[in-house]
Amino acid sequence: MTTVTSTLALPQWARRSITGRLKLVLATVQRCRDCRVDVRRIGEWYMVHDDIWAQAGTCHRGYLCIGCLETGIGRTLSARDFLNVPVNYGAGQWSRRSTRFTDRLARTP
Ligand SMILES: [Zn+2]
Repeated sequence: MTTVTSTLALPQWARRSITGRLKLVLATVQRCRDCRVDVRRIGEWYMVHDDIWAQAGTCHRGYLCIGCLETGIGRTLSARDFLNVPVNYGAGQWSRRSTRFTDRLARTP
């Protein structure tokens, strides 16, 4: 009864509806692929240019926290690495940024 076992492993709120299961998936995919920290919770929800992901030897599917991305590229990120999009510079729902993220947005090479 593998199916029953795996269903029981889900939190009750995730088992109730398709929306609950979708929220569970979204909660999972927001984790840093390397250290598993929740990137939204720590304020490191950002977008960088594709060549930065390429330098890190990864694609832009999934997420990396800034620390793990910097480890991958072997240097500290700076403002020119980030796309000019609301998720990086916007206000309101986008304004939650970690100290590290804010520092990198202001950093010049
Ligand atoms: Zn990480």
